[in-house]
Amino acid sequence: MTASWVPGAAGSGFGADHLPFGVFRAEGSEPSVGVRIGEFVLSAGPAAAAGGMNVAGLWHKPSLEPFLAAGPRVWAFARDWLTTVLTDPGHRAMVEPNLLPIDAVTMEMPFRVGDYVDFYASEHHASNLGRLFRPDAEPLLPNWKHLPVGYHGRSQTVVISGTPIVRPCGQRRGPDDDRPTFGPTARLDIEAELAYVVGTGSELGTPVPAAAFADTVFGVTLLNDWSARDIQAWEYVPLGPFLGKSFATSISPWITPLAALGSARVPPPPRTVALLDYLADDPEEPWGLDISLEIEWNGTVVSKPPYASMYYTGAQMLAHTTINGATVRPGDLYASGTISGPAADQVGSFIELSRGGRDPVRLADGSTRTFLEDGDTVTIVATAPSISGGRIELGSVSGTVLPARADAGLPGQARPGPRTSS
Ligand code: MN
Repeated sequence: MTASWVPGAAGSGFGADHLPFGVFRAEGSEPSVGVRIGEFVLSAGPAAAAGGMNVAGLWHKPSLEPFLAAGPRVWAFARDWLTTVLTDPGHRAMVEPNLLPIDAVTMEMPFRVGDYVDFYASEHHASNLGRLFRPDAEPLLPNWKHLPVGYHGRSQTVVISGTPIVRPCGQRRGPDDDRPTFGPTARLDIEAELAYVVGTGSELGTPVPAAAFADTVFGVTLLNDWSARDIQAWEYVPLGPFLGKSFATSISPWITPLAALGSARVPPPPRTVALLDYLADDPEEPWGLDISLEIEWNGTVVSKPPYASMYYTGAQMLAHTTINGATVRPGDLYASGTISGPAADQVGSFIELSRGGRDPVRLADGSTRTFLEDGDTVTIVATAPSISGGRIELGSVSGTVLPARADAGLPGQARPGPRTSS
C-alpha cells in the first residue's frame, strides 16, 4: 500500500493502513463522523461531499450508527475511497481543508450503545478468577469449554475514554463479617478488554453464523470494564455481575475496522474439548487476533496482555449470542472479557496482578498498589500487525478515579430531577 501524504501519518500507527472511525466535535460545530489519520481527524462528511462521494450523507451525522447500519459493501467502498484520497497526492487540495489537528477537537461517544454484553473468553483469566473467588473448587466451571460465558451489562454507562470514574459505593461482606456493610468499594479494579461493534442488524429468530462475522461486525475498540471486586464477590451468586460493574465501562473513541486487522488474524489456542458445530469458526481463517495490549497504571506499564491467547473468537461470541434467535442491532457492543495471557505479567486485571490483593505492585514513582486509589489513572493501549507490514495502534482508553460521593447511601435524600432546559 502507498503511504499517506498526510504529514507524519505514515508509520504513526494511524496511517492509511488503519483509518479508525469516531465522532468528534470541533469548537462551535455539531458533532460529526471523523476518521483518524496521523495526528489529524478527517472531517469525513465535508471531505466526502467535496469529493462527490455518495456516502457523505452517512457521515454528516453526530453518530456512526447510520454508517454502521449501511453494511459491509458500503464499509468497503468507503474504505477504498478514503485510502485513495489519503494516499494519492492528486486529492490533497480537496482533502486537506478537512483535516483538523487532533488536539483541536473533542472526541464524543461514537454511537449510542444498544445492547452491551461482556464475555469471559480468556481461559487464563477465568481460571485465575475461579481460584480467587472459589478457592476450594475446580477453577473452570463445567460449561466454560463448551460455550463462551457472558452476562448482559448496562449499555447506558458505557462512557468515552477520559470520563472520570467515581468510586462506587455498595454492599459488600468481607470474609470475617457476619453481615454486609455499605460504603465505597475498597477493591476497585480494571479489566482490559477488546470490544466488538455491531454494524448490520439481524432478524428476530434468525441466528447469525460465525461465517457472517465480518459482514455483521464493523470493528473493534479497547474497553475497560471497571470492576468493584468486593461488591461483585458478594452479589454475583447465582446470576452474575450487576452493580459491581454497571457503574462505568470505558471505551476508546476510535473504532478500528475489521478490514484493518486482516494481517492480525491468527488461530485461537488449540481446543482441548470439541465445540458444538454452531460454534465452529472458519477453519482456514479463524478470527483469533494478534493484538498486543499494555496497561499503564499512573504511567507505569504493569502488564502486557496478549489478545491472541483468547480461547473464543469474536465470531464465536456472535454466533453464540444469536443462536437462540436473539437479534443484534447497529450499535450493539460485545466485549471479550478480561484479556489475560499465561504469564504473571500478562494479566488484564489488578486482582490477578496483585494475586487477590496479597502482592503489591510497585509503580515508577516508588509507590505500591493492590487496587485503585483515588486519583489513579489507567490507560490501555494496543498495537497489531498492519496490512501493509508495520503495526497499527488502536485508540487508547483511559480513565481517572475520583473519590466516592460523600452523600452516597444516606437515606431520605431528595435527588435532583432530570435536567430540563430553562
Ligand atoms: Mn469484564
